[in-house]
Amino acid sequence: MTTNNSISVVSPIMATYTRFPVTIVKGKGSYVWDDQENKFLDFTSGIATCNLGHVPEPVKEKLEEQLQKLWHCSNLYNIPNQEQLAALLTGNSCGDQVFFCNSGAEANEAAIKLARRYANKVKDSGSAEIVTFQQSFHGRTLATLAATGQEKIQQGFSPLMPGFSYLPFNDNEALDKLQTIKPAAVLLELIQGEGGVIPANPDWVKELAQVCKENNILLMVDEIQTGIGRTGTLFAYEQYGIEPDVISIAKGLGSGFPIGAIIAKEEAAKGFEPGSHGSTFGGNPLATAAGVATVSHILESNLLNQVNDISNYLEIQLQSLKEKYTFIKDIRGIGLLKGMVVETNALKIVQKAISNNLLILTAGPNVVRILPPLTVTKEEINEFTDKLERSFQSIEKGE
Ligand SMILES: *Cc1c(COP(=O)(O)O)cnc(C)c1O
Repeated sequence: MTTNNSISVVSPIMATYTRFPVTIVKGKGSYVWDDQENKFLDFTSGIATCNLGHVPEPVKEKLEEQLQKLWHCSNLYNIPNQEQLAALLTGNSCGDQVFFCNSGAEANEAAIKLARRYANKVKDSGSAEIVTFQQSFHGRTLATLAATGQEKIQQGFSPLMPGFSYLPFNDNEALDKLQTIKPAAVLLELIQGEGGVIPANPDWVKELAQVCKENNILLMVDEIQTGIGRTGTLFAYEQYGIEPDVISIAKGLGSGFPIGAIIAKEEAAKGFEPGSHGSTFGGNPLATAAGVATVSHILESNLLNQVNDISNYLEIQLQSLKEKYTFIKDIRGIGLLKGMVVETNALKIVQKAISNNLLILTAGPNVVRILPPLTVTKEEINEFTDKLERSFQSIEKGE
């Protein structure tokens, strides 16, 4: 923009987000502060990203140490933090090899590319089709928005990348159709996050995994929101008794430092060879320092057990709110990824919560999404319940 005498009211930030009127400048644990020094209880965790709370000590220390040594190094050389993080991820999942990138969409891009290349070069099956599900969310890049089963995300971006079909989620019809389509891969969220916090039905997932196995279809799970301890296990798939061929992760992996990855089983990983995929920043020393500190802290502390206890406590509080307020229709979700289905406008509740110094999210028009950090305490959950209830009451009073 060149400066001139006309008064410009156009924001220098593109209008891709409708922002709440809050400017957050500081965070610690479950709390953030705005530029007026108002303190907010943060039950969004940067959308399932700051899983260890804001500015967690073990990650801060590791990043500070790495800041003194080396910030960036090309993937043409070995990167020790990257190797360590890959070993942590493969040592604690069913996968064997990792590819690092910088975001969730990029992780799904890598998964989609791997599935196509595996179909075309390794399996030679003829079908490079990928099946995803209605109401899913897989990202905003051209391939991942084509993979996303929501028209509102795709609107205006045609021509969409071909090669995706969308089947009904939690529906047995999808299992039949899968055997007719015989795609290269299925890409699945075990809990649809953006789509409304809808957990996949465990029996349906087991059958889906069986159909994939029998028909030589890669089973790829998008754990970008559900991964890194969010549901009480390092990955949500562990609770479904399945072994995916590819797992995509991002959000919680770096405690807020941008990083993404896919973890693949050895067979699926054959889809990539030197030259088939890459990323300048992917797995960079700083990002993987954050990843190593985050994942090793989760594994070495008692945090996952704590998530199971504290999420039960949160569930009890939410259920008692549901008994008190008839507009609450359902409480769903696993671990600390919770959705409250409401008959009113979820956004209005979120806005009221902000005036009570509480940050929460929506997931579609009728679901309030609750994502505290994994480190949340009982006292903080009590404070949350209290603030949420005050928000309900002011809505009921028509304020
Ligand atoms: C957030 C999210 C993505 C996209 O991640 P970005 O880092 O925003 O690109 C993809 N899939 C799921 C399930 C997500 O929750």
